[in-house]
Amino acid sequence: MSRVVVVGSFNVDHVWATATLPNPGETLAGRYSTGPGGKGFNQAVACARAGADTCFVCALGDDPGGDLARSLAADDGIDLRALRCDAPTGTAGIYVDGEGRNSIVIGAGANGELSTPHVEGQTDVLGRAAVVLAQLESPCEAVIAALRAGRAQGATTMLNPAPANAATTRELLALADIITPNETEFAGMVTRHVGERIDGDAIAALDQARLHALCRELLPAGTVVVTLGASGCFVSHAEEARRGDDKAFHRLAAEQVRPIDTTGAGDAFNGALAAALARAPDAAFAAHLRFASRYAALSTEHEGAALAMPRHGDVIARFGS
Ligand code: AMP
Repeated sequence: MSRVVVVGSFNVDHVWATATLPNPGETLAGRYSTGPGGKGFNQAVACARAGADTCFVCALGDDPGGDLARSLAADDGIDLRALRCDAPTGTAGIYVDGEGRNSIVIGAGANGELSTPHVEGQTDVLGRAAVVLAQLESPCEAVIAALRAGRAQGATTMLNPAPANAATTRELLALADIITPNETEFAGMVTRHVGERIDGDAIAALDQARLHALCRELLPAGTVVVTLGASGCFVSHAEEARRGDDKAFHRLAAEQVRPIDTTGAGDAFNGALAAALARAPDAAFAAHLRFASRYAALSTEHEGAALAMPRHGDVIARFGS
């Protein structure tokens, strides 16, 4: 029985590790590797490995990339609901320099064809979902359809508003019970929806009451979790704020680990948070957040994204809960 339905993208990542990022007209040598990616798939794998029954709704080409997604989903016990498209499976070309900075080009391919009817057609899994989780590497209408279906059946709806250059609308945000932007995404949304220009780099240093006020303006009726990389995360709840509860907002420090690759840490965090919410809906949100933070921290100790996701047991073995 699928309790978390993840709706989103799958990409075949082509990665070149280079000393510096290429300038226009420049040809460089780099170490090449390839593997699965896409925010939707990364989050679905994290969710499944964090212990939730997981369904992944996506669009794939009828090609080797699509076959890769099908076989990896089966390996992790993910119930794959893929729309088969004529367009090629999504791809990402990624350059990573010696300092871990990257430049990325996405070829949406089939991801751009994820349709509302395909999403709405998954009535059996959507009808019994505890959590519906989506990101913004898929067409906005498909994301809206997923969140709307989740809400209609009483599931917790989660939106990871990534990547940062994807525009959000008020209609979309209003369908989310929880949003999980990183600093850049949060700053972009505050500029767009609250009308206040703010720099992503300044978010982690903001006074918590101020950050809480911005979260409340951005999502008046829901929970905002702003992820802050190695600085942890910040959470702001609407319900508690309305009650005047002193737990309406708080900051959680990141776990102390030895990161070697933080690619996909945000995806690990989102998948693990969705899994925790589905597994123990009555537990305190702070406990879910702690689990997601531990899970995401562990994911940074291995190279890669989807394939580097830890298992529930790894978190218990390392942190005890
Ligand atoms: P980000 O998407 O970079 O904001 O990261 C998402 C989450 O992953 C953060 O909120 C942390 O919980 C965790 N995380 C990211 N980077 C690190 C790190 N260097 N050390 C420990 N945890 C991290």
